[in-house]
Amino acid sequence: MLFSKVFRMVILGAPASGKGTISKRIVDRFGFVHISPGDMLRLHVLHGSDLGKKAKKYMDEGKLVPDEIVMKCVLGRITEVGNKSWMLDGFPRTLVQAERLSASEPLHAVINLDVPHDVIIERVKGRWIHLSSGRVYNVGFNDPKVPGKDDVTGEDLVQRADDKPDVVAERLNVYEKMLRPVLNYYQKQELITNFKGSTTAEIWPQVEKFLLAKRMKAVAESIQG
Ligand code: ADP
Repeated sequence: MLFSKVFRMVILGAPASGKGTISKRIVDRFGFVHISPGDMLRLHVLHGSDLGKKAKKYMDEGKLVPDEIVMKCVLGRITEVGNKSWMLDGFPRTLVQAERLSASEPLHAVINLDVPHDVIIERVKGRWIHLSSGRVYNVGFNDPKVPGKDDVTGEDLVQRADDKPDVVAERLNVYEKMLRPVLNYYQKQELITNFKGSTTAEIWPQVEKFLLAKRMKAVAESIQG
């Protein structure tokens, strides 16, 4: 069942915090439209649109795409989605983006996944990838049937160079630094809820409970008129 009125939310979480899995569960359970500027930008690049041409050089260098371009992309998509509940994933990443989003679309909730850095570093260490298909395995979580081999093709699995512990630690530091002003902004507005845990199994029930309570409240308000 959908929310009885439009519900607008943002999900924040460090790389490899489990944000992808939690986002998918929210979408499946609550029927929100998933808005991912990263995915949208990649499509623009693929189709060679004007916006894609402008964004490409930043993305190729792993840099943030300028706020103007990303805002255009996100606000355009929100208008397209219209009168449906949505969840933004991978946005905002700067204070300017957060401020401009709030000016145009007041939010109902910001969900922040708070997973300790050492847990993320351990998790990424156990990640093995089948290069040609992109299939991902995690030691002790979803192991391949044969250690070091892809389940489908039997080919070798590899570890990504940027999954090395020191590289991951650095990525997490960069993320923290970049997102601090955004987190402070939402904290000041009392919009943010932190969900602490080491695994998706720990975090998901808390997120689900939180959104069920929000939905009950929305239904009650709509009945009261
Ligand atoms: P990643 O987690 O690797 O950054 P994303 O899919 O979220 O993956 O984003 C891919 C790229 O798209 C980023 O490296 C960046 O260049 C651009 N991008 C995505 N979201 C934003 C944003 N909110 N602001 C600026 N650039 C963004």
